[in-house]
Amino acid sequence: MPKPANRLSSLPPYPFALLNQRIRELNAQGHDVISLDIGSPDLPPPDAVIEALYQSACNPDHHGYAGYRGTSEFRAAIADYYRKRFGVEVDPNSQVLPLLGSKEGIVNLSLAYLDRGDVALVPDIGYPSYSMGVYLAGGDVHWVPLREPDYLPDLAGVPTDVLQRARLIWVNYPNNPTGATADLSFYQRLVDFCREHDILLASDNPYEEVTYDGYRAGSALQAKGALDVAVEFMSFSKTYNMAGWRLGAAVGNADAIKNLLQVKSNVDSGHFHAVYDAGITAIETTDHAWIEARNAVYRSRRDTVLAALPEIGLKAQTPKASLYVWGRVEDDDWDGAQYAEQSLVNAHVSFAPGMIYGPGGGQYVRISLCLKEDRLKQALERLKVWYAKR
Ligand SMILES: *Cc1c(COP(=O)(O)O)cnc(C)c1O
Repeated sequence: MPKPANRLSSLPPYPFALLNQRIRELNAQGHDVISLDIGSPDLPPPDAVIEALYQSACNPDHHGYAGYRGTSEFRAAIADYYRKRFGVEVDPNSQVLPLLGSKEGIVNLSLAYLDRGDVALVPDIGYPSYSMGVYLAGGDVHWVPLREPDYLPDLAGVPTDVLQRARLIWVNYPNNPTGATADLSFYQRLVDFCREHDILLASDNPYEEVTYDGYRAGSALQAKGALDVAVEFMSFSKTYNMAGWRLGAAVGNADAIKNLLQVKSNVDSGHFHAVYDAGITAIETTDHAWIEARNAVYRSRRDTVLAALPEIGLKAQTPKASLYVWGRVEDDDWDGAQYAEQSLVNAHVSFAPGMIYGPGGGQYVRISLCLKEDRLKQALERLKVWYAKR
């Protein structure tokens, strides 16, 4: 066998793939590991979505390639959604591009915009795919720290020489893993910054409908001038509990959409027609009551976790959004990775260690709210027993 390409050495295995392997081994040894690590929604999508998938799949004409840019009906539904939900007008043909999940678009955007030596500004504490895409493209990551209490990037702190090489900046609010949110004034400053420095703003926004306590999330595209410099990634995974369906879209600047399509159309051939049709049903027929009822389930789990934190050595802000509680490890003898390792081995409860999300996450662990409340309570009880006698 030939040796693999050098680029693999700059591309570590996806962190969760390694953790899953560990958990499988422990389960194989007869342990019952409870996973608080991965953010895969455990509840189903609305019934109408599944019915729409079936109905569309019954159409004999729906089994060929559905087009590199998806169906025009799907693009129109996304454009309608942005108008109704955010008051943002986009052209469905030039400013909307369906994706095989937003993760695909996140990585391909780096391939479209970064040459060797180009810089991407990546939040240190953030979703791992931003930096992985940059490494795959051969670009350089410049970490922009996100820190307590607001977890917003300090744009003025980016050095001038870095700015000159920067092509791309990633932001994600509501934020995974911290649960932090951003308002329109933040997006406006960001859009102005990107216009001034000729940087493409990439806003990853999968949690816009996973919010609590009356909070309503916005879109980066609501800022004035955003369509000149910004592209936003929307996803069906968290909004409609459709993570396994791999459906999302890029929305925004027409050049960014065109360049992303140029990469994408050479890599994949779009989705199954029935998945687009089911997506249209999700976006057009899901009412706010369904979203609210689903979020009430997550919120109850969130509060269960928050109440237990003092007894398991963690401290957290109350997240207004996202599927996670971001816990700071209070014991100075442990960092997040050690805490996660100890709890996995001794309590058989797995956390995502905060360092997965960048160097600034070292002292934290991420707790996912994607499991049934009785199982969550069982995990917390085990952790309390373990932590008290550690
Ligand atoms: C879950 C998640 C995604 C991935 O979404 P897909 O559409 O399922 O690929 C993207 N970004 C963040 C921050 C996420 O947490």
